[in-house]
Amino acid sequence: MARVYIESVTPRNLEKKIEAIFSAHDLGMRGKTVLVKPNMLGPFPGDSGVITHPEVISAVVKSCLARGAEVMVGDNPGGVSKGTAAVGEATGLAAASHGCFIPINRRVKRVKLPSNRISEVLISALVLEVDLIINVPVFKTHVLTGLTGAIKNTFGYVAGAYKSKLHLKAPSGKLFAALLCDLFAIRPPDFHIVDALTAMEGNGPSFGRVRKLGKIIAGADPVAVDATIARMMGFDPAELPLLRIAARRGFGTLKAEEIEYVGETPVVIPDFELLLSFQPRQPKKGEKGGRTSRATSPEEQTEAAIIVRRSTLKPFLAHPDLCVRCGECAVNCPPRAIKLKPYPRIGRGCISCFCCVELCPKGALEVNESRGR
Ligand code: SF4
Ligand code: SF4
Repeated sequence: MARVYIESVTPRNLEKKIEAIFSAHDLGMRGKTVLVKPNMLGPFPGDSGVITHPEVISAVVKSCLARGAEVMVGDNPGGVSKGTAAVGEATGLAAASHGCFIPINRRVKRVKLPSNRISEVLISALVLEVDLIINVPVFKTHVLTGLTGAIKNTFGYVAGAYKSKLHLKAPSGKLFAALLCDLFAIRPPDFHIVDALTAMEGNGPSFGRVRKLGKIIAGADPVAVDATIARMMGFDPAELPLLRIAARRGFGTLKAEEIEYVGETPVVIPDFELLLSFQPRQPKKGEKGGRTSRATSPEEQTEAAIIVRRSTLKPFLAHPDLCVRCGECAVNCPPRAIKLKPYPRIGRGCISCFCCVELCPKGALEVNESRGR
């Protein structure tokens, strides 16, 4: 039975609640080295709902220090133009780490992967050196995987610019999900504490709408934790290729009957908006169900619908008034499909990885159905 803790929190009781979770789930931290791994996607403000809230990191670090651990806090941000130290500063995560923040990108190690397609990656060496890893992701939607959460958050093991190479090598949703599971398996974190102070819906992981949720969701089973997030968002967790592959690989359980809830039980957030790429597509007129018609089971049908949807989606400049022509989108586009003329133009080489949407600092890009470029 997997145990998942769900607690309602306020700024006043956050530390107490984290402390209680660590008391209930003793990781034996005394004398151990502990890496606290937030989601530090980019230089977004602490209360943006994009990155792990600095107050959550502060509470986790305090609790680990009080238990006698040697704590380090670090993550590899997305994008190539901002360094880890600069992003740590801009987000407030460095200041919230009680002197434990480390630019983990400075020492890297080459690691073999089981896949033929991607045989090795460069990850932060510290990930392989510490005794314990506490994973602290954020409750939000994700354009590629449906949701971010415990499993997706270990993509941050990968050092800097190497992330963009991986997008090129794993361009489809299914390949990317399998890659994320390979990365997770390099060093599965020992415990997961999801920052659900807010929930990002719609255009996640960077520019969705942020709703107040006021929860912490935690557990040692990453699939059970992510399945809980999925159910709260309104997904059937088995619909999501990432969670299905993770469960198949034995990282944990998706099944509601195998999850014991402590504190509260998960409740579906009313009218939670999923991403366009994860809403089943209606067949066009005369299409007889399109590619989905080849699916034989409800599970395959949903997967086919998701795949069809994703392949027809492209980024576009939805808000030219917000675009400051900084070029971040072009610099971070793995196949170099964006030209600034002087506003970004997306060319035919686009592989729908949505790094540009994720990393645009102004939220000027959105995802929509291809207009036949
Ligand atoms: S779309 Fe965003 S990232 Fe690209 S140039 Fe404009 S502001 Fe910069
Ligand atoms: S244009 Fe955007 S979505 Fe397309 S490949 Fe480049 S970064 Fe990815």
